[in-house]
Amino acid sequence: MANETLTIGSLTAKPGEKTFGSNVLTVSGQPYRLAMWLVNGAHDGPTLLVTAGVHAAEYASIAAALDLGRTLDPKTLAGRVIVLPVMNVAGFGVRSIYISPLDGKNLNRVFPGDAGGTASDQVADWVFKNLMKRSNYYIDLHGGDLIEALVPFTIMFRSGHDETDRVSFDMAKVFGIHYLVRSETPGSAYAAAAKAGIPSILAEAGGQGIWPPEDVASLRTGVDRVMRHLKMLPGGAPETPACTLLDRFLWLRSEHDAFWYPAVGVGDKVTSGQVLGRVTDHEGRVLQTATSPADGSVLFLVTSLAINKGDPFLAVGA
Ligand SMILES: [Zn+2]
Repeated sequence: MANETLTIGSLTAKPGEKTFGSNVLTVSGQPYRLAMWLVNGAHDGPTLLVTAGVHAAEYASIAAALDLGRTLDPKTLAGRVIVLPVMNVAGFGVRSIYISPLDGKNLNRVFPGDAGGTASDQVADWVFKNLMKRSNYYIDLHGGDLIEALVPFTIMFRSGHDETDRVSFDMAKVFGIHYLVRSETPGSAYAAAAKAGIPSILAEAGGQGIWPPEDVASLRTGVDRVMRHLKMLPGGAPETPACTLLDRFLWLRSEHDAFWYPAVGVGDKVTSGQVLGRVTDHEGRVLQTATSPADGSVLFLVTSLAINKGDPFLAVGA
């Protein structure tokens, strides 16, 4: 049985076709052009949504999504793939860290969105209703932001729906990144999808404004591995590599607008109580000493000297 024509807003793709174009939303009264690929396979199968650029300067994720949209061949595809490479369009042009310049909100904290809210709420609402709810599976690609270094990891959201969580966990394992985190952080895109019963994962690689080929490849290959796992691509199910499962992702946050001096590097193994860094004022007085809350590994580290009150500066996976 062949797929039916895929229509998303103003874009359509017939079975066996790939369409690239923009859906133009009206956000806070202004046009907001969401560029995307609709890849409609020649063979029947499920619908997978792949997004990136929720955080607009996480370039390895955006490069991987662009490559996916450019190279995916509908003739060998079973099912449909929707690829949205830059969700935070307004942030991309100004190289915004974390937030949308339209309203100062983190797009990955406002899902499933609100049509009556501010710009980010409206974008999330459109994506949730028009892309996520039309999909059977969801992969959201991320990485370290402009000021962040990280060890690649994949996250699944524990939604409480047993079957959704089981499928999400299998997708995360097969993606092929060594560290796997089970999270309960609400408001993010993949969490909203999982709560709606759509198996979802978030994968992170790269950071600090660069997109090394190995980080782009790990995200790009991971999407292919999940598609083979879901029988959307030929080649058979990939082997599931050994992974380290982390049930606690411990975020440490700055209590001051000040200067951040890390004492460890990303990837370092740390022990409970170890000093991880200090926040100081201009004269070097220590305002806050960060100590490790557990034995584990530093998976995420802010690398800018500037730190803002409330921002995370380090995360330990335990
Ligand atoms: Zn991100």
